[in-house]
Amino acid sequence: MQSRRVDIAIIGGGLVGASLGVALAPAAARHGLEVAVIEAAPLSVEPASVDYQPSFDARASAIAQGSRQHFEHLGVWSAIAREAEPIRRIHVSERGRLGVTRLSADELHVEALGYVIPNAWMGRVLHERLSALPLHWHCPAKVEDIAAMPGGYHLQLSDGNRLEAGLTVLADGGRSGLKERLGIASREASYSQVALIANLEVSRPHRGMAYERFTDEGPIALLPLTGNRMALIWTHHAGEERARLALDDGDFLDELQRAFGDRAGRFRRVGERHAYPLSLITAEEQVRPGLAVLGNAAHALHPVAGQGFNLALRGVMDLVAALEAGLPNGQSPGDMAVLGDFERRREGDRHNVIRFSDGLIRLFGIDHPLLSHARAAGLVGLNLVGPLRRTLARRAMGMER
Ligand SMILES: Cc1cc2nc3c(=O)[nH]c(=O)nc-3n(C[C@H](O)[C@H](O)[C@H](O)COP(=O)(O)OP(=O)(O)OC[C@H]3O[C@@H](n4cnc5c(N)ncnc54)[C@H](O)[C@@H]3O)c2cc1C
Repeated sequence: MQSRRVDIAIIGGGLVGASLGVALAPAAARHGLEVAVIEAAPLSVEPASVDYQPSFDARASAIAQGSRQHFEHLGVWSAIAREAEPIRRIHVSERGRLGVTRLSADELHVEALGYVIPNAWMGRVLHERLSALPLHWHCPAKVEDIAAMPGGYHLQLSDGNRLEAGLTVLADGGRSGLKERLGIASREASYSQVALIANLEVSRPHRGMAYERFTDEGPIALLPLTGNRMALIWTHHAGEERARLALDDGDFLDELQRAFGDRAGRFRRVGERHAYPLSLITAEEQVRPGLAVLGNAAHALHPVAGQGFNLALRGVMDLVAALEAGLPNGQSPGDMAVLGDFERRREGDRHNVIRFSDGLIRLFGIDHPLLSHARAAGLVGLNLVGPLRRTLARRAMGMER
């Protein structure tokens, strides 16, 4: 059993913690920083077993252009791109209403509006890169206890090791109880909705089309994957997903076809189905001396606008930028000068993205005839009013904050 002093300890090697580990490498090499990553679930680069790691289940994520640029900067994009399907067009509609809005990459003069990547693949690429870096891996190991000490935090690991860290980054997804143990309060508002996710095979080529369809139950999103496959995110009123999870594949596909219609072709096969209860959760503190909160631990959003990881990755890049700005001036990673700078960089973006995705859900979740017409008009209007629609698209792509 060891007790080790490190400059930065990252709790959680999920999408966000792993991205931070990779992003920190140049600054760590330049400034001689000791970095540790602690991940509770066993990791493997074998595709058959990554499914068991909670961050890297059957989900696929829509990654904005801005995130692609960050991954390029980190040197992992060429590997991630092997399983990335470009989104060329987005079709937004509302069931039972005329309003439809279409966004296309061509009119915005970009190669793609975004990319859809299986989480398991992103995780595999990030972990391969991490395993080649000179950092302290503690995996599988859980941080069981965390306590403030002069100059940082003290971490007790489940494998018996102890770490003392100048800066501790909480990237544990927010479900491990560590936030509560530190007394960091969160605001939580349940959407009373559950997202049912699965991968589908469709009868005709999707040609890079992503669909977002708002129904009385909540939005249904279909995102293009490599081959003739699409990723489904089907929102249900809480509890109603259970019956659909229990259906056999054929009945499930029939119900989905009825709810979504034929515009994406016929749904032929469905993979494993998983359910995620949806809430808006925001931590009331993002930084303390010696501590920063990132990713889902800082903010869990409704997936309707595909913004959660994109927002978190910008947080990763801003934390590294704040460190790069402060370290040459003699500041240490846990100093409030560094973390205050990080928080100032994040505040506006976080606020805007949360308001944007929460606003979208509330707008489409209210069942009032006048509002329904306004929504339809809004969607049609978006189609007619070019600049507004382009602003929406640029924000969804992470090109505008
Ligand atoms: C249905 C759905 C669809 C989504 N689609 C999109 C999308 O299209 N685009 C997008 O940008 N975002 C999307 N998101 C959001 C995105 O998935 C999250 O933002 C992202 O997964 C957050 O990653 P994370 O690393 O913060 O947390 P997690 O993925 O929860 O990872 C946390 C990690 O910490 C580890 N851990 C936990 N506790 C401890 C401990 N005590 N000690 C050590 N390790 C620990 C866990 O094992 C895990 O690996 C979606 C979310 C959902 C639910």
